[in-house]
Amino acid sequence: MEKNNIKKQNIYTSEEEKTLNWDEVQESFKKTFGNEIYNSWLQKLSLIKEFNDYLILGVPTRFFRDWIVSRYLDKILEQVKGFKLSLNRIEFKIIEESKQSPELISINELNKVTEIKDSILNYNRLNPNLNFQNFIQGRSNEIALSYSKKVCEHLSRYNPLYLCGGVGLGKTHLLNAIGLELQTENNVMFISAERFMYHFIKSIKKNDMVNFKDFFRKSSVFIIDDIQFISGKESLQEEFFHTFNSLMDKGSQIIISSDRSPMKLDRIQERIKSRLAGGLVVDIEVPDIDLKIGIIKKKIQEIQNEFKENIDLSEEVINYIATESKTNIRELIGVLNRVIAFGRVHNKSLTIGDCKNILRDVFSQIRVITVDKIQNIVSNYFNIGLADMLSQRRSRPLARPRQIAMYLAKKMTSRSLPEIGRRFANRDHTTVIHAVKTITRLSEQDDEMKKNISQIKSLLLEQ
Ligand code: ADP
Ligand code: MG
Repeated sequence: MEKNNIKKQNIYTSEEEKTLNWDEVQESFKKTFGNEIYNSWLQKLSLIKEFNDYLILGVPTRFFRDWIVSRYLDKILEQVKGFKLSLNRIEFKIIEESKQSPELISINELNKVTEIKDSILNYNRLNPNLNFQNFIQGRSNEIALSYSKKVCEHLSRYNPLYLCGGVGLGKTHLLNAIGLELQTENNVMFISAERFMYHFIKSIKKNDMVNFKDFFRKSSVFIIDDIQFISGKESLQEEFFHTFNSLMDKGSQIIISSDRSPMKLDRIQERIKSRLAGGLVVDIEVPDIDLKIGIIKKKIQEIQNEFKENIDLSEEVINYIATESKTNIRELIGVLNRVIAFGRVHNKSLTIGDCKNILRDVFSQIRVITVDKIQNIVSNYFNIGLADMLSQRRSRPLARPRQIAMYLAKKMTSRSLPEIGRRFANRDHTTVIHAVKTITRLSEQDDEMKKNISQIKSLLLEQ
């Protein structure tokens, strides 16, 4: 009971408090990801430090980190958010960086994942949902979009085509759309740099480089996502370079994405950079408000069509989401989904106020709500002195605010009952329990009390 409360209330606190039970989180990983992935990867994640809005997890090697980040990070974050709503980021720290060369580490790691059964073909799948039809054009992406389409019409004219831009701006979507467009008439290879590495290492291990080379060099359209991943990995770069050259020699079209322009890639050999920059380099920029609104409307339409449900979001709310979501399109869609889910659960049309509450933890740093702050705001609200409110005097004009402050401390911070008692001039935890019960009851029965509580809460959340 106690524990559940703490979890729910965490959204309001921001003191650095440990509330995650890592064993429980690990259990949920096991259920979600299945034994194979869990035993090979997630089991080895350790919790190093917990903050209100992010976690630092320990990983054994850099390879391990890259692997987890590229394949499981979104899902991991989703899982831990289930335990602690206020989290919005996970960072990794390498705790046993081995002295071996990166390649050796990788091979050793791969030895441990014998269960991952896959074929290269399995990873070559294009996602039919990421196509040109549902890619919305805006000022920030129109050049990238137009050249992506041109490449499909005139193969080899822009070679390689290199799309760059920050995370979540639509690179993978465009690459995928190109692949879909071209796959009927060409031998399309679509792979992320990280998977390219996986197969590369696996082939070294199996002494099967001949097959590896053949496989990648026979494509007529070679699409590689997130090329920045090869930075610092010398022998992978070497292999990529040979693949690249031999594909160019035979006239294959190459399309590349990266989080930065070729010349800004670090720890990548100069000759590779200049080859990457040798075709056409186009940027995708951060979306403007029109594009964001366009994407929201399109998504709403898609969901309405797919689930035959009516999604009732006012222009005002759509504008609000578009204005407030500043980072990238992936975040924008995440935020929209959250708002839609909330509307569904509560079955009502949402106001800006609702959205503010729902998205508070996404958009802004979590408000710091402490017992001190509650005491100050409550005593101000009732126009009484703080010392009086905390004193032992029992007159109602002091006792009620005191109880309200205790009640809010329990509801809006993750402090325990004894801790709260201590902060109210060393009262016993039973006094706090009594206060919580009294105010809970009164706020159900008494409109005046209900109004007071809700006004004080909004004061606290606005600060
Ligand atoms: P990146 O690869 O640059 O990190 P993604 O291609 O994965 O970004 O895009 C993130 C999300 O945003 C995806 O769900 C994608 O479909 C969506 N998205 C990005 N740009 C657009 C756009 N212009 N129109 C519609 N959806 C978009
Ligand atoms: Mg991507």
